[in-house]
Amino acid sequence: MLSEELTPQLSRRLREWFLELADRLGWRVDKVLDSYRLAQRSVIIDVKDDGNVISGVRLRVPSESRDNTYYYVSVGPYGAKCTCEASVIRGEVCKHIVAGLIMWNMISVMKYGKWLDLNELAWLKNSTEHE
Ligand SMILES: [Zn+2]
Repeated sequence: MLSEELTPQLSRRLREWFLELADRLGWRVDKVLDSYRLAQRSVIIDVKDDGNVISGVRLRVPSESRDNTYYYVSVGPYGAKCTCEASVIRGEVCKHIVAGLIMWNMISVMKYGKWLDLNELAWLKNSTEHE
């Protein structure tokens, strides 16, 4: 659903947003792109839409390494969670959460033309993962 619909201009903006996201997380860009691929294979369960802003999403994200395994992610302005081990046990911002963040952003851009402001997401700074 995502990349196919992007105009060149949008895709340039998206790349910039991915770079900013990688910087914020302390991740390599490759890892953010892994999350983008996961987002493309995810199923949206719920979208919180208050009429002029998307304030969060829930989705089902496939495992990268295990067949028929899915994690449930919710992201919003005040936090994010995922049912995977890294998130539940270690409280990490995992690839699935970032997939959720990317999906949230895409829905917001498609519907309202609003890009998520990563500066407003305080929980993003709490990533403990440095891979
Ligand atoms: Zn996860």
